Amino acid sequence: MPKASRIKKNAPPPAGYDKVSPTLTKLQAKLKQAQVAQSVRTGSSASTKQLSLWPIMQINHQISRYVYDMYYKRKLISRELYDWLLVQSYVNGDLIAKWKKQGYEHLCCVQCIMVQDKNHKNACVCRVPKATLLKNGDEESTKAVECVTCGCRGCASTD
Ligand SMILES: [Zn+2]
Ligand SMILES: [Zn+2]
Repeated sequence: MPKASRIKKNAPPPAGYDKVSPTLTKLQAKLKQAQVAQSVRTGSSASTKQLSLWPIMQINHQISRYVYDMYYKRKLISRELYDWLLVQSYVNGDLIAKWKKQGYEHLCCVQCIMVQDKNHKNACVCRVPKATLLKNGDEESTKAVECVTCGCRGCASTD
């Protein structure tokens, strides 16, 4: 495990932060909006509450994906900056750790593969490749593919 914990939460951003800050600021603002919208909907039933979390989950995913691409794929930011973003909780370290594994490159959220999760008895249906769904069932079953946790509509690596 990298020692990300050596970086203090209140440490100033390392060099290169200006490369990612415009996009991150934009996404963070979107996230705030989604969180405000979600908090307005208090008192609704558990299932609508879960639904209203989808935008938040999806924006969080987008932020992690962006930083992941910048560091692992495009190699435009330093390890130091990546660790700093991790410590600041900009990104979901657990999710990124999964993306590095074969077969999980597009995983939408870690809940989807936590089979003990209250929502899932098995890995989430969105993890099943579209081709497999088509083979096993009718057209309808492929349309119903939606992750209860984040609303993902399919994140198998082959899709
Ligand atoms: Zn998914
Ligand atoms: Zn998901």
